Amino acid sequence: MVHPELTGNKFFKLRYNLAEAQEKGMGQILTFGGAFSNHIYATAAAGSLYNFDTIGVIRGEVVRPLNPTLQAAADFGMSFYPLDRSTYRKKEQSEILDKLAILFGPSYIIPEGGTNALAIKGCRDILTPPCLDATHIAVGVGTGGTLAGIVSSAAQHQEVLGFSALKGEFMKAEIEQLLKAHKIRPKGNVTMVTDYHFGGYAKHTQELIHFMRDFYRQTGIPLDPVYTGKMVYGIFDMLHNDYFPRHSKVLIVHSGGFQGIKGYEAKLGITLYP
Ligand SMILES: *Cc1c(COP(=O)(O)O)cnc(C)c1O
Repeated sequence: MVHPELTGNKFFKLRYNLAEAQEKGMGQILTFGGAFSNHIYATAAAGSLYNFDTIGVIRGEVVRPLNPTLQAAADFGMSFYPLDRSTYRKKEQSEILDKLAILFGPSYIIPEGGTNALAIKGCRDILTPPCLDATHIAVGVGTGGTLAGIVSSAAQHQEVLGFSALKGEFMKAEIEQLLKAHKIRPKGNVTMVTDYHFGGYAKHTQELIHFMRDFYRQTGIPLDPVYTGKMVYGIFDMLHNDYFPRHSKVLIVHSGGFQGIKGYEAKLGITLYP
């Protein structure tokens, strides 16, 4: 509902970065991501909307014909540069960044997933005054920038629940680090929920797909398979397990992610919402 192309949380994450790039007189944005990345798609869309050249440094291969995410990004005018997985892991080192600068010229660089100080600042705007009614605020977590912004603007009486899309407990420490690095002191509770990754990032089970279809039939609200589907499944499960006290008001942040559905369907040979 934020914007037809620059959807969900990625609008908030990019907004002040685009302003900063403009202010610095940089006409080109370079960023990093996987071949199905919502962030790559959103950056390409932003470039086309606000007149920046965009370069996507892609983890692994850029397979032709392009998958739906990269095809859309290409249509928005993005150029791609594939990095093999081991080089990609070192992408923040100056050796790689210098090489990219020689190849593409000066760029405003946005990290993978788009999380930096300006992204977190942008995500502070996600909560608006009516959100103060909520006792719990739930949001999906990849790099944690969106959660960090929400935590910094949530009130003392609100518990923020971050649903990790990645497998493992490491996310708890990672979020603690991120909040500390950006000097964000939560006013209320922050809870990381790590039980609903369904096997890992971009993995799914039949049960999850059933749930998402059912939820769509009942509410008319589509969920994406990577973040929001898993989160909403988790919330219902926690509801059944009496996690939320009576009269709680749970605010669920729908962070978008619809661009990924086509690629997901193509990869798995299924139709999510027939
Ligand atoms: C990127 C993304 C997230 C995760 O945002 P982070 O700030 O990286 O934690 C959640 N939901 C959707 C739909 C996304 O595209």
